[in-house]
Amino acid sequence: MSSIYEQYQLKQVINASGRMTILGVSTPAADVAEAVNYGLNHFFEMKDLVNKTGAYIAGLLKVESAVVVSCASAGIAQSVAAVIVKDDAWLLENPYETASGVARDIVLPKGHNVNFGAPVSTMVALGGGKVVEAGYANECSAAQLAACITPRTAAILYIKSHHSVQKSMLSVAQAAAVAREHHVPLIVDAAAEEDLTVYYQQGADLVIYSGAKAIEGPTSGLVLGKKQFVEWVKLQSGGIGRAMKVGKEGILGLTQAIESYTRLPKTTGRQMVDKMAPFISSLNALRGISARVVWDSAGRDIARTEITFDEAALGWKTKDIVDALKNGDIAIYFRGYRANEGKIEVDVRSVTPPQLETIAACIENLFKGAEA
Ligand SMILES: *Cc1c(COP(=O)(O)O)cnc(C)c1O
Repeated sequence: MSSIYEQYQLKQVINASGRMTILGVSTPAADVAEAVNYGLNHFFEMKDLVNKTGAYIAGLLKVESAVVVSCASAGIAQSVAAVIVKDDAWLLENPYETASGVARDIVLPKGHNVNFGAPVSTMVALGGGKVVEAGYANECSAAQLAACITPRTAAILYIKSHHSVQKSMLSVAQAAAVAREHHVPLIVDAAAEEDLTVYYQQGADLVIYSGAKAIEGPTSGLVLGKKQFVEWVKLQSGGIGRAMKVGKEGILGLTQAIESYTRLPKTTGRQMVDKMAPFISSLNALRGISARVVWDSAGRDIARTEITFDEAALGWKTKDIVDALKNGDIAIYFRGYRANEGKIEVDVRSVTPPQLETIAACIENLFKGAEA
């Protein structure tokens, strides 16, 4: 398929940065591509497809109910709309009508009001909700969350993510306890999380995942939760959900991806270490560069290669190295969060062994070019 790159004059990409939306997130396995292809080539009674794949996914995950949506952002917007509109036919078609006095406040910890590529608050507004921030930028307790609940509250929203402030923050289970006590639903955005059941088990009414991130499905999203709430999310297909419609190919592709994700053994951190071993040796052979294995800071079973550049010896700033590798003939993307410390990380999950060799060669060439 290299002709696609040629036809549109696109740059080839090596993605060593992890599941990045700006690079297209992930490359689903062959069985997922096959399910997508099957979906594209057949007709279905769409309501039946939505309901039965949802029930199948719910069975796999042992949750009450589930529905495939177009992406996690759409899942947030439609979940917010669902808790506001419920099954009110008029509100469904007039989602932003404020005269009715319907409860629209969506209470979330202030440190969760983040930008994941687009703001959480924009998705809440799209669903007809009004963000109410609880606590402070660096702190939200159960009591601070509860203090914001009023008769205008439609739901509590919790963003389970590395983007959120982690420090002095209540847990999902604590947020669920507050929700239960005050008889309001809890929506959890767990878009990039790997565990598809834990937040539901901890008491969330709706939990949202991105289909292409941990699950490695096609562009899609998953909303699972209590039956009544998921039914209200489904009703949104006759409201704002229509503007974020998922097709049969996305529904079947994600369903297959979830099946594989739950049934097949996951690549372990240990296997990632084995994969990157030759790469690390070749980097360590280069002057001014050292490489080693580091483990995911969020505690997931993910090993990455950390490369440290001796900026003085190389005469290069790490930021400029990162830019040069991004701007080469093949665009190589790293995790550059710590470039200011002279360190970058290589996430090998979406990188093939030959691509790892290419990365090492490109790094070597970079410094060969410069006269010592
Ligand atoms: C990626 C992400 C989203 C958005 O997911 P999409 O499927 O791209 O819409 C939402 N919330 C968080 C925390 C994310 O990491």
